[in-house]
Amino acid sequence: MTKHYDLIAIGGGSGGLSVAERAARYGARCAIIETGRLGGTCVNVGCVPKKIMWYAASLAHALDDAPGYGFKLDYFDFDWQALKTARDAYVHDINAWYVDYLARSGVDLVRGFARFVDVRTLEVDGENYTADHIVIATGSRPRIPKLPGAEFGISSDGFFELIACPPRVAIVGSGYIAVELAGVLHTLGAEVTLLLRKDQVLGAFDPMLREELMNRLQADGVTVLTRTSVRALARLANGTLNLHCEGQDQPLRVDTVLWAIGRDPNTDRLDLAATGVTVTPDGAIPTDPYQNTNVPGVYAIGDVTERFHLTPVAIAAGRRLADRLFGQQPKRRLPYEYIPSVVFSHPPIGTIGLTEQEARHQYGQAVKIYQTQFRPMYHAFTSRPVRTTMKLVCIGPEERIVGCHLIGEGVDEMLQGFAVAIRMGATKRDFDDTVAIHPTSAEELVTLPST
Ligand code: FAD
Ligand code: NDP
Repeated sequence: MTKHYDLIAIGGGSGGLSVAERAARYGARCAIIETGRLGGTCVNVGCVPKKIMWYAASLAHALDDAPGYGFKLDYFDFDWQALKTARDAYVHDINAWYVDYLARSGVDLVRGFARFVDVRTLEVDGENYTADHIVIATGSRPRIPKLPGAEFGISSDGFFELIACPPRVAIVGSGYIAVELAGVLHTLGAEVTLLLRKDQVLGAFDPMLREELMNRLQADGVTVLTRTSVRALARLANGTLNLHCEGQDQPLRVDTVLWAIGRDPNTDRLDLAATGVTVTPDGAIPTDPYQNTNVPGVYAIGDVTERFHLTPVAIAAGRRLADRLFGQQPKRRLPYEYIPSVVFSHPPIGTIGLTEQEARHQYGQAVKIYQTQFRPMYHAFTSRPVRTTMKLVCIGPEERIVGCHLIGEGVDEMLQGFAVAIRMGATKRDFDDTVAIHPTSAEELVTLPST
């Protein structure tokens, strides 16, 4: 018998969970269809296990730094397998928590893979489910290049399955995942080569951040090969890998190759043709600012769409869609300006708003830049001269802050509060009028000199 709902979310990740839970709070009858583990990418193979590995790498840095503070550490060892076991258990607890959470929220969980039968009907393992509103929240999966031997490499999913730190790793790609995992693997003991097809990491970021992170990766000992195109991957009898690159006679010999070249939206197996929902050539679902697809009653949120691919974005878009559909808030939507984001590199990056180039393109002469670079007090006592760099992009005579770009220890935790102020339209004067907290790195942001 076909079961009918007010709303069905396809995908039990950040977006699907949020839209269904919020809609159920308004009294809507909701279901989530999930083929894998609840929590989606973020919980299982993304933010959560990644952040645990980042904490481990940060601890390794702290241990390196400790002698500068008088500690005598003769020996320390790192047990990757022990951390993996603890990390997996932590993630499983979150999976279980979500099952309970859905039950408490009154949201039905349908286990299986959903396909569209028509615009209001989904089929899962031979059963049909209908809904007035269907939200596509199917996320994305790692992109594997179409190259000979590509299957011998792993993706970020495979990174989380590693039971030991590979001695030599080649990471192909230049985005969030490439730089984050390069930092983690290098710090935890791997010899890391990062292969960029262009000149720098983090293509769309402010150039200051790109340069600073490139310098830091190299100073830390990561080998960065620029303008390098991978041609093929071959596995030798002893299990090691040969990575063949354009124009290089000798292959790069490594134990693990990690592809980090972007992600593909999960739309190809949804039978979207049955609905008329359009996709871009890359397979993403375009939506209007209200998450509507081109077909009424079908919506898309999160990584399956074209916009910012971040967990809090998927969550916010989902909740606001539910507010609009069931909470009598017809104008409710997520504005996609001023989305803050952190790259968990070593040191981390925090960024919000326009890059300097974007601002100059939009506002020309009206742009004013404030920037500072300093060695934080913490590093006055360590052997690593890691600097912090901060940039504010301001516009107009009132110097409204339209961009804030930070790299250095602690900026991951620093940005959130400043993001509130910037979203509210803060000016440079508002920052300057705020009494500093001393001694911190954050205080530099409220005393920034002009360049
Ligand atoms: P997902 O979380 O991917 O959920 C989609 C769900 O749909 C999946 O569970 C999938 O199994 C299910 N599904 C797919 N097709 C079907 C179907 N036909 N039927 C049923 N179920 C289906 N973001 C941050 O904000 N901070 C971070 O630090 C961060 N770190 C990351 C690190 C890594 C390594 C990766 C890969 C991503 C990271 N992200 C981070 C991005 C973040 O994980 C995603 O933006 C977020 O998970 C997107 O949520 P979503 O709901 O759109 O998709
Ligand atoms: P990204 O989109 O961040 O970066 C991938 C980059 O790899 C491209 O921008 C491109 O850069 C390069 N690239 C593409 N194709 C190739 C190729 N064939 N060979 C070599 N390089 C190539 O993707 P990621 O996979 O790193 O991450 C996916 C998304 O997940 C991110 O965009 C982000 O939204 C999210 N994420 C968020 C995190 C966070 O919030 N901390 C952490 C991890 C992921 P170029 O054009 O410069 O060569």
